[in-house]
Amino acid sequence: MSTHVALTESLKINPYESMLARFERAAEIIQLPEEQREKLRKPAKQIQVHFSIVLDNGKECTFEGYRIIHSTTLGPSKGGIRYDQDVNLNEVKALAAWMTWKSAVAGLPFGGAKGGIVVNPKKYSKAELERLTRAYTKALIDVFGPNKDVPAPDMGTGADEMGWLMEEFSILHGKPIYAVVTGKHVHAGGSLGRVEATGRGVSITTLLALKKRGLNPSNATVAIQGFGNVGLHAALFLHQKGLKVVAVSDVNGAFYNPVGINVQDLIVYSQLNNNSLKGYPNATPIASEDLLTLNVDVLIPAAREDVITLENANKIKAKIIVEGANGPTSADADELLEHKNILIVPDILANAGGVIVSYFEWLQNSTNEFWNIEQVNRKLEEILTASFQEVFDTASRYRISPRIAAYVIAVKRVAEKKSSVL
Ligand code: NAD
Repeated sequence: MSTHVALTESLKINPYESMLARFERAAEIIQLPEEQREKLRKPAKQIQVHFSIVLDNGKECTFEGYRIIHSTTLGPSKGGIRYDQDVNLNEVKALAAWMTWKSAVAGLPFGGAKGGIVVNPKKYSKAELERLTRAYTKALIDVFGPNKDVPAPDMGTGADEMGWLMEEFSILHGKPIYAVVTGKHVHAGGSLGRVEATGRGVSITTLLALKKRGLNPSNATVAIQGFGNVGLHAALFLHQKGLKVVAVSDVNGAFYNPVGINVQDLIVYSQLNNNSLKGYPNATPIASEDLLTLNVDVLIPAAREDVITLENANKIKAKIIVEGANGPTSADADELLEHKNILIVPDILANAGGVIVSYFEWLQNSTNEFWNIEQVNRKLEEILTASFQEVFDTASRYRISPRIAAYVIAVKRVAEKKSSVL
């Protein structure tokens, strides 16, 4: 095996290395002193917990969970909790660091963190998931806090899990503490617009990217990988804006219709089908990997990391890639895509809508305010548009890719602040 292939393999299996490769480039550009680089390369805190719950069948089962705090320099650490059977330390470490950079690009007063439990949530009942979430919260009770570390949803979790976490944390503190977590149901202290915020943000940055490329949104074609929180809402908003969503996939299959998929119809189908696209009758089934290489204007990976790699980057025909997922492109594929002149809206900008509205939720909880949906959406669009502009201006100024430009902005902001809130 050549060194090059070995490097590719290691990057693919280690998203943290992938994150570091971009960080090092940005650090070089801004000539960050080595002692500051060393501090930012490593997470501030790395916690691994084991805890058990009683399953519905009466048996006890032990789970492994993580919470990684990458940085608290700009504010309390912020980041989602992932329930997935493939959750591992390097993945959570990378996701935590991406949260630091993402919050910094958007100019939010937050650091970065991420958590996860090694579990396939589809295999457990609602009651079991509730016990699991409460046990995870108990195990991390000293870590979480509205001014310390504030979780949010990610893959496999949503408003129910966030509500249970908030309740358990509040019980253990003897008073309601809404601001300990974001992404809650509105009736449990959540913000209007939070559920759809990441997908809305992806749609906003897609429209900005189309404009940048001089492409007309009406009838521009889009392929979306993943039909969960991010993919579904991105598909819906882009469909409503007149774009043609021609392909969509989830873990159960991929579907293609060159005339355009009726996204509302697809949502209803998926909801009635146990949140699965399997068997969707109004589009042709295609191989999952083929969705990524379709001849479309916009490709939106919105499922998981490292799906665009050296192996398939050469075959990608999209003019624009908007990274709804975190880390969907391996570091070694970046250059190849740049050479192909594909405009990439990097994850730490494209999917920042979630953390931006999480910030609004945290603010509302902390000040006892309740914003209307117009206020939430307007402020979200303002922040994302300004961040997009800044990233692309920085890219032109330094003659670097928008991805490295986003890292340059973020790393500079964190490095200049220096001190930590904890
Ligand atoms: P989700 O669990 O709601 O949905 C994930 C979707 O991806 C599901 O439809 C699943 O079937 C699909 N999927 C999984 N593996 C797949 C595969 N190999 N091929 C095709 N589809 C596959 O998760 P989500 O919250 O939508 O998160 C998706 C991505 O977006 C993750 O990378 C997450 O970190 C990132 N993200 C989420 C948020 C948020 O607010 N939820 C914010 C920022 C970034």
